[in-house]
Amino acid sequence: MSDDVKQKVYDKARSLGANLVNCCSVCAWEEVPIQEPEFWPKNIWPWAESVIVLGIPLFAPMIDTTPSMVYQELYDTSNRVLDEMAYRLTSYLVTELGSRAVFFPRDCYYGIDDLVADPRAAFSHVLAGHYSGMGTIGDSHNLITAEFGPRLRMVSIITDLPIEPDPMLEKNLCIHCKKCLRACPTHCFAEDGGPVYAMDKVTCTKYHVQLKNEHHWPCGICMDVCPVGQDLKPYRKQPRITDDGITHCQRFGSHPASE
Ligand code: SF4
Ligand code: SF4
Repeated sequence: MSDDVKQKVYDKARSLGANLVNCCSVCAWEEVPIQEPEFWPKNIWPWAESVIVLGIPLFAPMIDTTPSMVYQELYDTSNRVLDEMAYRLTSYLVTELGSRAVFFPRDCYYGIDDLVADPRAAFSHVLAGHYSGMGTIGDSHNLITAEFGPRLRMVSIITDLPIEPDPMLEKNLCIHCKKCLRACPTHCFAEDGGPVYAMDKVTCTKYHVQLKNEHHWPCGICMDVCPVGQDLKPYRKQPRITDDGITHCQRFGSHPASE
């Protein structure tokens, strides 16, 4: 596959609004196995050769208000933008470059309640981001990027174009500061000597069900407290938001459990 095609695909993705664009081979799932074969793209779509990952930022001073409608609207908007970009890039690959292509929508579940019994996603964009060199998997299980730390959302497009993969990052971007471990309101994380924290995903999911019932979700605190990311640079010398500002944003538009 010529560099020219890769450039065309990346230019198109950026023109659609993607801030980060990376690519890996579907062989990465087999070469560096983290998930069971059931999840490998090639075992779902046998013609697949490459996975293109698109990333867009979530803005820290809005996540600071979590749980709130301000953060929920940000989250919902980012999902909408990602699915639209993925649809349009897939359409470009199919109709203009003549390739086979599909996209894995960014969340792909009907409702958070449906994840309590099995909190796994059909496809992990975090893993695709890791294999494609967009970032590395942090102790919090989020993808940590140099640009936005874990404050980003991703979507993945799968194509039969054999696009030259971007190299996986050699340096782990997680600095093991334990801020996510300490800040998690449900104490989901535990140190067990593994490469990342052990995570009680069912407890995290049940907390999200509670937040959804209160009409302001998701949680996002483990993303919010992570100190990694150039996106935080403009806020280093002053608070990102006031305490009163957080209370204000949480007070309107939904009903916290205490009410
Ligand atoms: S999303 Fe919230 S509850 Fe879940 S692990 Fe992160 S901080 Fe904990
Ligand atoms: S908060 Fe600290 S320990 Fe948690 S993912 Fe970020 S850098 Fe790693």
